[in-house]
Formats: sequence, C-alpha cells, structure tokens
Amino acid sequence: MNYLDTEDNIVALATASGLGSIDVIRISGNNLSLLFQKITKTKTHPKPNIIKKHTIYSLISGDIVDTGMLSFFSTPASFTGQDIVEINCHGGGYIANTIIDFLCLSKEVRLALPGEFLFRAYMNNKVDLIQAESINEMISSESGIHNNKSLENIDGKLSEKILIIKKSLINLLLIIEHELDFDESEILHINNVEISQKIKDIIKHIDSVSECYFFSKTVRSGLRVLMLGKPNVGKSSIYNHMLGVNRSIVADIPGTTRDTIESILEIGGHKIVLIDSAGSWESIDEIESMGIAKTKDEIELANIIILVGENDKDITAFNKIVKNKNVIVVMSKNDIHNHKNNFLSLSTENSHGFSELLTKILTGVNEYYSNNKAKNEYLINRRQYQILKQCNNSLKSLLKDINLNINRDVLAELLHIILDDYNNIIDPVDREDIINNIFSGFCVGK
Ligand code: GDP
Repeated sequence: MNYLDTEDNIVALATASGLGSIDVIRISGNNLSLLFQKITKTKTHPKPNIIKKHTIYSLISGDIVDTGMLSFFSTPASFTGQDIVEINCHGGGYIANTIIDFLCLSKEVRLALPGEFLFRAYMNNKVDLIQAESINEMISSESGIHNNKSLENIDGKLSEKILIIKKSLINLLLIIEHELDFDESEILHINNVEISQKIKDIIKHIDSVSECYFFSKTVRSGLRVLMLGKPNVGKSSIYNHMLGVNRSIVADIPGTTRDTIESILEIGGHKIVLIDSAGSWESIDEIESMGIAKTKDEIELANIIILVGENDKDITAFNKIVKNKNVIVVMSKNDIHNHKNNFLSLSTENSHGFSELLTKILTGVNEYYSNNKAKNEYLINRRQYQILKQCNNSLKSLLKDINLNINRDVLAELLHIILDDYNNIIDPVDREDIINNIFSGFCVGK
C-alpha cells in the first residue's frame, strides 16, 4: 500500500466523522463504472457529473445498506483525474463505515492514505504542489482572510507568480547557454553587467513573494490584541464580556503561564488572539523592571493594545511602556465614573461602548494590513518561504561569482542547480520526498 500505487482503487470518508445528517464517501480509481453498477445494481454506464438517488447494495451480501445520492465523475475531468464515485449516504458514521467495510472486503478498493486523493490530483496535473497545499490549508483556515487567501492560491495566484519568476530564470539560462553553443565571433555577447542586472531583477521578484511570509504567519496565527492596565480596572471583565458577546469564538487556549490567558475570536473576517494580561503586579515599575516578564513580552508581541483605566492617571502611567504601539485607550466602569476625556468609555455592567470597541479593533486590524499592502499579496508557507530564501541566497552568491568573472560554463551549471532548487516549490522531482513531507501530513479523505 503506497501512494505510488495509483492503479489501486481508494476509498475514504470525505466528511468529518461524527453525528451529522449526511456522510460523503469518495472513491477514486482508473475504471469505476463497473463498481458503480455493482453497488447500485444498475446495468448501464453511469451518467457523469449528475447526482442521482440510488439504492446501495453490499458487494459482499448483496443486501440493501442504504438509499443515497450518488455521482460519477469520469476521467480525466475529475478532481483526481481518475474516475470518481461519490456516495452521499445517511450520516452518523455507521452506514458510511458499513459501505467502506464492504468495499474493502470485496478487495476491489482499499482505504486511502492521508492526502492520497490530492496526491493523485497532483500526479495527474490537476493541481500543482502549491495548489495542493492550499486546498489542505483552506480546510484548516479559521478566518475569512485566511480562507480567501487560500482560495486565491487554489485558483493559482501564487503559482502564477512563481512560474513567471521561473520563466525569467529559464530565459537567462537560455541566453547564456545559447552563447556557449556558438563561436566567439558569431554572436553578440551579453556582458556581465547585463547578466547581473537580470539576476538582480529576479532576486527582487523572489523577495516580493518571500516578504509575504510575515503576513502569512499573522494570517495563520492571528493578530495579537492585548488587554493591559493596572489590576482591578476591569480588564478581565471586559475580556469576558467581549468573548461573551462575540458569537464567532473559535477556541479557548489555556494560558501558557499564569500571567496571561488567550482566546481566539474572529472580528470582521480576521483571526484575533485576545490576551488578558492577568499579571499580579502592584506597580508599573514592576513591569518596567522586568518583574512581569511575560507581560513585557506580550506588549512587545502585541499588534494592538487595549489599555484600560478608570481615570487619566491609570492611562498615563503606561505611556512609556506602550510607546510606538497601536493603542486603544478604554475608560472603564462608566456606570460609576463620569469620564471627562475623549477616550472610549464603556461598562461591563450596562454593555455601553462595546460595539465601538469592536469597531476600533477592526480599524486597527485593517490599518495593520493596509500598512503592509505589498507584503500582504501572497499567502506562503514555511516550505515555500525556505525555498525562496535559499534560491535568493544562491543568486546573491552567483552575483559575487560573476564579479569574479567565473567561466560561463560554470555560471550555466550553477544556474541549472538554482533552477532545480527553485522548481521544488511547485513541481519537485523527488516524489518520495513530497509524499513523506507534504501529502502524508494531510488529512485522510483529502
Ligand atoms: P482586572 O484586575 O483589571 O482584570 O479587573 P476585573 O475585571 O477583575 O475587575 C475588578 C473589579 O471591578 C471587579 O470587582 C469587577 O466586578 C469590577 N468591575 C469590572 N467592570 C466593571 C464595570 O464596568 N462597572 C463596575 N461598576 N464594576 C466593574
């Protein structure tokens, strides 16, 4: 049982296991028409690309197992490029497992390995490696922006840019190799300055993609919004109130130390990590003197700080340590205080000011992203980033070699190596490597 055994028919549950109204089972293989007919006890080749109600029969006992909606997608116009049968059966898991069991017992089909459907799609040129990774990434996205950026990559946005850069590398290589094929007197020479300029342009393009890694990491991990203020000003109450009124909470994360608590929520399509710095310090001096190391680190890491105070003094006390940060000042407990300044004023007692607070956070988030527009263009992952970085390092050292007047044969040779390395980002030659490091990490049924 191996990913490279693409002649095997494979089956997996495509929906999450557990209680639900429908389960979807997917089968991929080279010739599934007959199998479809056996499962449904029909006599004709199934009509592709439609969904139709069928009785489902066990291949082992011949008994009725369920009534479901079945579709047939014919090679090559299917997700994997092979024939695909999709069975929508009643949910809950029992029926789906019974169907998968009889398929496997019949020996006509075996269980799919993790990511094996996507691997076949990749092998049959239905998707490139970046698109395959993006499909897997989209499934785990936790915010609108993460979802949209993954979708852009499934549609080929990043691949397109990667291929444009690849073309420039190939063109440069062709020019140099073309020259090598001719006698010195026969052609016009491209000089070292011109070659270096072309390489510098390629480096710039690669940089424009790899610079998006920082943004990509933030999209995945979420923007950090830190609640800060003296003890007892109402931070935790505001924190809990925000989680309570926000209906799109994704998950709670236990604090990594007793100093902080983190929760994930979505605001305006963005993943936000809301952090309550429940530090037990007595004075600001304590934070400044690194007494509360974790809170100091959190201030450093925070993209936005919600600075809470009951009066002006509570706020000014923090001026120094939040310098250069994006700060939303919040005056708390307005049910018992009459705040005289222009800061946002709220109360957890009567819920005043919370929609304004959410709007301010969203404005801060939008500012964060729009300030870095060029660096927010592409969603890239660590693997892609490392390849891009490595290629640029190699190109930069090639520039040095050119300055030292290396032989053009050697230059062509080195460029070939860089091109091969670069190609790993979208179409690597080593299948075993991508199976072990990429596809086997995907979920089963993908
Ligand atoms: P933290 O130490 O800054 O996290 O503050 P807490 O959220 O624990 O609140 C400290 C005290 O202030 C608690 O007794 C809360 O009940 C109270 N408190 C919090 N928010 C409000 C508010 O909006 N109005 C009033 N009147 N009391 C509040």
